[in-house]
Amino acid sequence: MPQDRLVGLVFDDRYLTHNTGLNLIADRGLYPFAEPVAHPSSPALVGRAKHLMDLFGIAERMRRIEADLASDVQLTVYHTPEYLARVSEIARTDGGDTGSGAPIGRGGDRVARLAAGGTIAAVSAVLAGDVDAAYALVRPPGHHAMADEGMGFCVFNNAVVAARHAQRAHGAERVLILDWDVHHGNGTQAAFWADPSVLFISLHQDDLYPSGWGSADQVGIGEGEGFTVNVPLPAGTGNRGYAEAFATIVVPIARQFDPDLVIVSAGQDASVFDPLARMSLTLAGYRAMTEMMMAVAAECCAGRLVITQEGGYAPQYAPYCSATIAQTLIGRISDSEWIADPYGERAETQPASVELGLDAAESIERVLAVQQRYWAI
Ligand SMILES: [Zn+2]
Repeated sequence: MPQDRLVGLVFDDRYLTHNTGLNLIADRGLYPFAEPVAHPSSPALVGRAKHLMDLFGIAERMRRIEADLASDVQLTVYHTPEYLARVSEIARTDGGDTGSGAPIGRGGDRVARLAAGGTIAAVSAVLAGDVDAAYALVRPPGHHAMADEGMGFCVFNNAVVAARHAQRAHGAERVLILDWDVHHGNGTQAAFWADPSVLFISLHQDDLYPSGWGSADQVGIGEGEGFTVNVPLPAGTGNRGYAEAFATIVVPIARQFDPDLVIVSAGQDASVFDPLARMSLTLAGYRAMTEMMMAVAAECCAGRLVITQEGGYAPQYAPYCSATIAQTLIGRISDSEWIADPYGERAETQPASVELGLDAAESIERVLAVQQRYWAI
């Protein structure tokens, strides 16, 4: 790894004002005394990730990139003007839901615009050559957001508007969006469903959320057919299964697509501790996936890689995953300096870290059978 890599970091304290409120762990009608807990998508998670990046001396080795509020012009490459107006209207109240399960508080439209603008700023910095790669540690996340409604904690689709910005403002022709969030990136898939200029690859827990999205046979339509690659994996797939999916599907297809920019929708909710999913990735798994995408970017587009934060809900673990990804991006840390896995030795020895499960192998075979119609894999 070259010693002079410069990696950008987008983080803004205003992300910590993203107000998702409290969450009941049970139906209030059935259980009127259920104790409310912090909403899973509380911005405290990215705050912790930033804190760890500071603590481990990672942030100081990155170049700070300022985030601006995404403009109407930047957002309407995907979102409808009616939806922007609705989000602004909700933000003038004490808060509410921008669609299905994507709450904001008072003033939350500005935070959501700052998340989209932060991802756009990361893309701009990379494509202008100011930095080699960048991590946009933003809140709220984006990949579930549809053109006309928020969904699943996501208000504006940060990856979509940033990919379009790369094409329109910087002349990138082909953009790869690799989505390893454990949930399916339905909003991103919908945006580029008929568009061959953006290759969307999603690895996710099979039919977890949203229901009905992300099966292997969803491949795009018209000119976009073959440019959507869904890799649904069974619960319990860990480092070994993800490594197999990357080696046999993700990396070869990405190389054949030959992108001008790689964007990773990085949800660290496929981690072994996540409360919202049942995958078993550890720090080593996230490091390996980051390294593989860095290698693809190095081969195809001079290393131009942008990571944008999506989900990740285990307070004791997801921030370590994010810090590890940033550490990997810097690429100049000796082995002894890798962040130690809080899971301890079990991270290396749990079966999912070392064994390819039969059901995971079958899932990968099914994807290969579908995608071999479009790619030499
Ligand atoms: Zn997720």
